[in-house]
Amino acid sequence: MRYATSGTEETQTDTLQGVVVQPTQASEVSIALLWAQENAIDVAVKGGGHSTAGTSSSDGGLVIDLSRMNGVTVDTTQKTITAQGGATWKEVDEAGAAQGLAAVGGTVNHTGVGGLTLGGGYGWLSGEYGLTIDNLLSATVVLADGRIVTASKSQNEDLFWGLRGAGYNFGVVVDFTYQAYDQKEPVFSGLLGYTPDKLEEVMGALNESLAQPDSRLGAMCFFALAPDGSGPMIMVIGFFNGSREEGESKFAGFTALQPIVNTLDMIPYSLVNTLQNPQATYGDRKAFKGIFYQPPLDPLFARTIFNDFMVKIQSDPDLAASAIILEFTDMRKICEVPLSSTAFASRNIYQNGIVHLRWTDATKDLEHRAWAREAQAKWKAELDAAIKDGDESSVPQYINYAEPGDSVVSNIYGENIDRLRDVKIKYDPNNVFHKMHPISTSK
Ligand SMILES: Cc1cc2nc3c(=O)[nH]c(=O)nc-3n(C[C@H](O)[C@H](O)[C@H](O)COP(=O)(O)OP(=O)(O)OC[C@H]3O[C@@H](n4cnc5c(N)ncnc54)[C@H](O)[C@@H]3O)c2cc1C
Repeated sequence: MRYATSGTEETQTDTLQGVVVQPTQASEVSIALLWAQENAIDVAVKGGGHSTAGTSSSDGGLVIDLSRMNGVTVDTTQKTITAQGGATWKEVDEAGAAQGLAAVGGTVNHTGVGGLTLGGGYGWLSGEYGLTIDNLLSATVVLADGRIVTASKSQNEDLFWGLRGAGYNFGVVVDFTYQAYDQKEPVFSGLLGYTPDKLEEVMGALNESLAQPDSRLGAMCFFALAPDGSGPMIMVIGFFNGSREEGESKFAGFTALQPIVNTLDMIPYSLVNTLQNPQATYGDRKAFKGIFYQPPLDPLFARTIFNDFMVKIQSDPDLAASAIILEFTDMRKICEVPLSSTAFASRNIYQNGIVHLRWTDATKDLEHRAWAREAQAKWKAELDAAIKDGDESSVPQYINYAEPGDSVVSNIYGENIDRLRDVKIKYDPNNVFHKMHPISTSK
């Protein structure tokens, strides 16, 4: 049976699984895990299937595909949302919206709750409420030895700590319960599109949004080709969780730059997480290279990156769906949480981004991946130059954007690594869960 994840990376070629199981309950996950170990078969777990490094797939092994475990329930009294491990954020957003609630989930609603939560999770509500893991109340986990346990602040606390930021390492999470928040009102959000000559001014407006932070405000910037084929463009998704009047004022610096596209409007929160769906689809070949930068982002550096990227993606029509994505998130709430209170190591002021190449011709894999790595290295060099006391490798990288095999990935778990090793030895001593930045059990 052929069964592809959303793309491939240099760490893997296309994989052909030995067998895929689609459990409908935790006990079936437990049986599958035990069977695989008894027969010395490699195991992979698939949530939303968005890994571009093949970490939710196994060459010749067993894939536990959680897609049939995608139920979501809402507790309106406690204001919590429980999602099964194979749900996507679409199901969470829609179930929450029906009750006037929202959770901190991903900005592309077909991403899985599984992978995104276990690696931390940034979303449009992160400025106000922190990371997805900061709002995780409990999880049900099937361990390698087949036991089904609860992890929370009061049960298996060490496992709960490890799940929040290094969560791919310990078991199959069959449900997550999140704190949700009132979200009865729509938000002010939409797309702004600019011609390339506006790049420095757009960067100025984006930098200003972080210089004058508002926890309700966020933005993402995309260097990409216009969908109508008219050439390079700078796109911004703006987000403000407040009234139209205040939103217009918050984005006045952006609208004054005379965008050629402006869809800013009052829309339901759940719809904001669909805005990127037309571009962020499954399939094709992909390089997904996490980058990060220290704000304010130097407009001259951004210009160099933009120009180089456009030369690259205009050199081959097959690369037309590629983009460089830069996030502008108010990190204050995220950084309020002490580094040691969850396993998530990259709580810092640095902003995340992605160099994302996408193509279809497999003969171009090496060429395009090499280019993406070079682009990633330029961001690393820029950050190295900006950091006074050390180099970029001293800054833990965001695990969800740091696919295994990335050339600049050197530090994922930061100062939490020793404690994580103890948790790994306790819950997965034989390293059954080893696909995504496995924690070594030896020092
Ligand atoms: C289009 C796109 C948009 C994105 N947007 C955001 C964003 O807004 N915010 C953000 O923080 N990140 C974002 N990411 C990164 C995303 O969080 C990671 O790629 C994440 O790992 C995807 O999870 P998944 O369940 O869809 O993928 P999968 O490929 O299914 O899983 C990824 C990893 O998690 C493991 N896993 C998944 N579910 C479980 C489970 N229930 N139990 C145990 N292990 C599990 C898999 O084994 C695999 O190693 C985005 C990625 C893409 C491709």
